[in-house]
Amino acid sequence: MSQDEGNDKPTHVSSAWEQEFLSQDSTGYIGAPSKRYRCPKCQHPLVLKKGKNGSFWGCEDFPRCDYTANDEEGRPVRAKKFFCPLCGGQLRKKTYSENVFWGCSNYPECKATLDDVNGEPASARKYPCRACGHYLVRKKGAKGHFWGCIKYPECRHTLPDDNGQPVPRKLRG
Ligand SMILES: [Zn+2]
Ligand SMILES: [Zn+2]
Ligand SMILES: [Zn+2]
Repeated sequence: MSQDEGNDKPTHVSSAWEQEFLSQDSTGYIGAPSKRYRCPKCQHPLVLKKGKNGSFWGCEDFPRCDYTANDEEGRPVRAKKFFCPLCGGQLRKKTYSENVFWGCSNYPECKATLDDVNGEPASARKYPCRACGHYLVRKKGAKGHFWGCIKYPECRHTLPDDNGQPVPRKLRG
């Protein structure tokens, strides 16, 4: 790196043509989008598409390639993936009645569920289950929220909920 300090535009540009030529150097083509995004699956360019729920990025090679990404201020952003803390399967967002929660894609073999917090599965690892050493997740029952073991029904340890926190039972009287 031995770039001269500061602005290295020549001060003696004599023609508009030369100026245009010099300005092309960094951007490729005048008028082209400032940046091109490539599909991470097949290396074709990504194109901004309009869908029912707004714009999104799709692969130019669609339908041969089904890669899509969310559009965030003109940039493709891949939706985050979340994995089951018990079995490593992918978590899927589910809606049951008015509950939104995350369930394991290996259901029914794996019954892990996680509460939804701002569109992401709650990482409740901070509340270990005293009964089995796994951890507690916030659940919604008929009488409101409570904390239950992620290994339910194998482990039926539960704690009451107080404003999103499990209330520890007193260890001794
Ligand atoms: Zn592709
Ligand atoms: Zn799982
Ligand atoms: Zn447990």
